[in-house]
Amino acid sequence: MPKTILTGLRPTGNLHLGHLFGACQNYLKLQDQYDFYLEIADVQALTDNFDNPKKVRLNVKEITMDLLSIGLDPTKVNFFIQSQIKEIAELTVYYSNLVTIARLERNPTVKTEIAQKKELFGHNGESITYGFLGYPVSQAADITIFDGELIPVGEDQLPLIEQCREIVRKFNSIYGKTLKEPEPILSDTARIKGLDGNEKMGKSLGNAIFLVDDDEIIKKKIMNAITDPSKIKKDDPANPNICMVYYYHKLVNTKENIEKVCSECKKGTRGCVACKKELIEKMNKFLAPIKEKRKYYEAHPEKVEEILKAGTQKAQQRANIQIQKIKKAMMIDY
Ligand code: ATP
Ligand code: MG
Repeated sequence: MPKTILTGLRPTGNLHLGHLFGACQNYLKLQDQYDFYLEIADVQALTDNFDNPKKVRLNVKEITMDLLSIGLDPTKVNFFIQSQIKEIAELTVYYSNLVTIARLERNPTVKTEIAQKKELFGHNGESITYGFLGYPVSQAADITIFDGELIPVGEDQLPLIEQCREIVRKFNSIYGKTLKEPEPILSDTARIKGLDGNEKMGKSLGNAIFLVDDDEIIKKKIMNAITDPSKIKKDDPANPNICMVYYYHKLVNTKENIEKVCSECKKGTRGCVACKKELIEKMNKFLAPIKEKRKYYEAHPEKVEEILKAGTQKAQQRANIQIQKIKKAMMIDY
């Protein structure tokens, strides 16, 4: 039996370059070799968007179209919707006994996210909900209900996978060896920075280049990207390593051109405006085939629905088998 890959995306917005380079390029490599389950994590998206169900609903389809347009093959990848797998909710309840509140509060990813969501959770996280604090527990259920062994993710997900591994160890030590400990798979660029220089490009952070952005939006975003602030005049020498424009050149330009951008920037023979214009052109070229493929799915929404339906059915069957094994181990298999 091939190993199972499990990964997920929250339907909170479209795919951006962070997803593509941080996680999705690994999905493309792995889809041929493994049993691949890809979760559209709508229940997790609701933990911090509970007051905006329309946004979550709309983005289930949007993100699925994005994933198909980058080249994921629905005959190899099972796309499924988290909320339709009731065993995940059930397992979350069982796991909630195996983790302390203090441990959840210490999770670095959850801590960072609470700090970023002041409007929702208060300045000191005083309005944090039970659901948001507990989403790593639910994510452990997402992974283990499919016996997920390999988890391709971006770097921000590592503390969540570690939390899952702890739950698995605790479960196995109490109820007998039942579950597998998942391993993360990181890409070479496991963390893509935002246009504003923020350590993470995020859907909810307003600093992303989305794969669906049209040429005008790309132009605007790149023209406003953060560059070396010490460079005032066109021919001042600058430090490309603190410039977001150079950073994205490294993602979408050729090796030869990247070296040229770097050395000209350092020497002061390249102005920021020209450098941004070159990046705009390369970015549009890079995104063009993805947008082209997306047009097909936009014209055939019924295909997207069929893909989600078939993948969800397969996921339901597998989850049903696993929950029975888990309930037997816990002696609640009446
Ligand atoms: P949200 O802000 O709503 O949490 P997000 O942009 O963080 O959205 P997710 O759906 O939470 O996106 O993450 C999906 C996958 O993409 C995860 O594996 C995550 O690690 C990865 N990912 C997201 N942003 C980045 C990034 N900037 N760099 C690398 N990987 C990323
Ligand atoms: Mg996220």
